[in-house]
Amino acid sequence: MTNKHYAIIGGGINGLAVARQLLLDFPDANVTVFEKETEVAMHQSSHNSGVVHAGLYYEPGGLKARLCRRGAELVKQYCTENNIPYDECGKVVVALSKEEEGRLDAIYQKSIANKVPDVSILTGSEIQEVEPNCIGTKALYSPRTAIVSYGEIARHIAQEIKQKNGTLVLGRKVVNLTEQYNKITVHFEGGDHYSQTFNYVVTCAGLQSDRLAANSGDIETPKIVPFFGQYYVIDEQFKSHVKGLIYPVPDPKYPFLGVHFTKRIDGQMTIGPNAFISFGRENYEGNKFNISDIYDFLTYKGFWKFSSKNMSAAIRELRTVLSQTNFVSEAAKYVPSLADVSVEPATRGIRAQAMESDGSLVDDFVIRKQGNITHIRNAPSPGATSSLAIAEYIVREIMTHH
Ligand SMILES: Cc1cc2nc3c(=O)[nH]c(=O)nc-3n(C[C@H](O)[C@H](O)[C@H](O)COP(=O)(O)OP(=O)(O)OC[C@H]3O[C@@H](n4cnc5c(N)ncnc54)[C@H](O)[C@@H]3O)c2cc1C
Repeated sequence: MTNKHYAIIGGGINGLAVARQLLLDFPDANVTVFEKETEVAMHQSSHNSGVVHAGLYYEPGGLKARLCRRGAELVKQYCTENNIPYDECGKVVVALSKEEEGRLDAIYQKSIANKVPDVSILTGSEIQEVEPNCIGTKALYSPRTAIVSYGEIARHIAQEIKQKNGTLVLGRKVVNLTEQYNKITVHFEGGDHYSQTFNYVVTCAGLQSDRLAANSGDIETPKIVPFFGQYYVIDEQFKSHVKGLIYPVPDPKYPFLGVHFTKRIDGQMTIGPNAFISFGRENYEGNKFNISDIYDFLTYKGFWKFSSKNMSAAIRELRTVLSQTNFVSEAAKYVPSLADVSVEPATRGIRAQAMESDGSLVDDFVIRKQGNITHIRNAPSPGATSSLAIAEYIVREIMTHH
């Protein structure tokens, strides 16, 4: 695969990591990244919690469990070697009731099976030795969980790609790929195509991944259904009430981790994200509607099946969407001293979550090869933590498998 031509569609952290991995493994390869925005990492990769997940929750043996553990090691190493801020601030997952304690124990068992380093169970009083203002009946403590800026890491990788003679084509939206006689053509919006053809292509298009894959001949499902997550920054004077990361025990029926306290690498303390259907895949302001994105999920039978099964969770999340007070009081269950804290809306993130036509949300990462084109079809959280390991997996296992 040394002198071949490779195209990567999508300049988020996953696409950039794949391009870098190709250049590391095949220094003479011709590698081109196509990104529709005028800068890299403008979507999920710069609108997230910034947590380097240690691998607590994921089904042992699955891709998420494996690639998150490996990815967390690689992110730490990458930050250390490149002087990128990395703060091992630690995380507690806190139970508030007997019922949640049972679910917490199950997460603990998974974290042991996933070989997450140094995890332990804390009693109610021990929680305060880690987070002095946090209350709960029991907690899982992961001291190795860290925070970073994935946007900064992605921009650094983009520089490295250029230094290694890779090419970044910015501001060009790819509408589809066609493969003929082992040569792949990259077609742009507007009807033209890239001058050069490619031997291999990897699509890493995040929120648009289902459309690009289906337009290029891959299967239609799973489809991406966008769920936004709003963050709030808490008043600067109160940020010392939380030392690191405080998470609830996730609702097993809902794939998102729940509103949590997240320390940011820039020193801010945020609360969020909630999870609710987004009226646009790239609609960060929240007051705009994208008709074709709305049409896509409203006409997808999977969405209606999902909605009917998840009404109670959706109503709980909607309460936090409609009222800032409800949002803060969800989080203050864990840190009562912050019950009246003032907050400012911060960024909003939109998750590219794949959904099957039976309404189930796809839990594991999905990476599919079709001819010489490899598609990332589902890479939600911990997709950023795992990015450097996803890249290794694609380049060394998926692309070499005939
Ligand atoms: C609210 C939220 C919180 C999260 N928190 C965490 C966390 O704490 N830790 C963690 O590990 N993960 C987290 N994640 C998940 C993580 O952000 C993603 O898994 C990761 O960023 C995915 O990277 P990506 O490169 O696959 O996608 P993206 O970053 O979305 O990049 C896709 C790129 O493809 C480009 N593109 C799309 N279509 C085209 C096209 N047709 N032509 C050209 N370019 C195209 C887009 O412009 C974009 O730049 C979170 C996600 C969200 C939304």
